[in-house]
Amino acid sequence: YKAKSGRHGHHVYQSEDNSHGEIRLRTQQELRLAVTDDQLVVHYQPKIGLKTGEVTGVEALVRWQHPTRGLLLPEDFLDLVEESGLMHALTRIVLTKALDQAVLWQDDGHALTIAVNMSASSLVNVEFPEEIVRMIAARGLPASSLMLEITEDFLMSDRDRARNVLTRLREAGIQIAVDDFGTGYSSLSYLRDLPIDELKLDRSFVMPMADDARAASLVASTIDLAHSLGLRMVAEGVESSVAYDELARFGCDHAQGFFMSRPVPALELDSWLAARHDLEPAPANEIQLLP
Ligand code: C2E
Ligand code: MG
Ligand code: MG
Ligand code: MG
Repeated sequence: YKAKSGRHGHHVYQSEDNSHGEIRLRTQQELRLAVTDDQLVVHYQPKIGLKTGEVTGVEALVRWQHPTRGLLLPEDFLDLVEESGLMHALTRIVLTKALDQAVLWQDDGHALTIAVNMSASSLVNVEFPEEIVRMIAARGLPASSLMLEITEDFLMSDRDRARNVLTRLREAGIQIAVDDFGTGYSSLSYLRDLPIDELKLDRSFVMPMADDARAASLVASTIDLAHSLGLRMVAEGVESSVAYDELARFGCDHAQGFFMSRPVPALELDSWLAARHDLEPAPANEIQLLP
């Protein structure tokens, strides 16, 4: 009986595996269409300066407006994008949309830094830094209005190449942030020697702060360490006023999170910015969560 169910289990696994394979294949075909048919959209989440309460920048986050399945999040399709060799196309699309949006915001008088996430696979392309520089220049934007968010795995995989790429981008005036900081294997002493502007502390460190004193003191000392190395610190995943106030007290430079705003389409961010502007001047500790 046991053996039979084992065999049965194996069989079920195989057939599941097959249908899973078919789904992947279909999704890959759909992904190619997403790229050629302009189904990828970019949402924006504001980043707030904790000293002034001002919106200093936005992070561009990709979504897939799927024709039948609705709006899909990166976790639903990014791995497959990578496997299908489409990551470079996606990066170019997101950069183009984000920079076009940056021009609109600049024309509206919002000096916002736009942060774009870079996969390691996009950054290993040796032509890419120059291509990015051309994209910014073609729009008449200052290079410093673009920030690239890179991950620790890119920094650690091929150190010479990483240093090279970052140096070229930095020399062009583009800002560099290390995303999800604390989840990888890089050390602060290694990061100290790289051309980096800021660290984004992963939300897994920030979210427990509100009800765990030890988590909070870990965050506080990480902020101090970053500062001692001349790096700015951004906290991700700020979901409550408690976390927001505590981060401000710890001297954290910027905060990003659902407490201020979820990632939203550009038009929605415009209304959010306008509503927030009406509230100003607001003390940093009285920021209201907008409906
Ligand atoms: P990330 O770069 O660390 O982006 C932050 C993620 O945390 C976003 O998820 C955002 O919606 C979420 N988040 C922000 N505030 C909060 C909060 O207060 N609480 C919680 N629980 N979550 C919060 P999203 O948009 O689903 O993106 C997930 C990841 O997908 C990103 O993580 C990034 O690694 C990747 N990604 C997104 N867009 C792109 C892109 O255009 N290119 C590449 N290569 N990767 C991207
Ligand atoms: Mg990011
Ligand atoms: Mg992050
Ligand atoms: Mg993260």
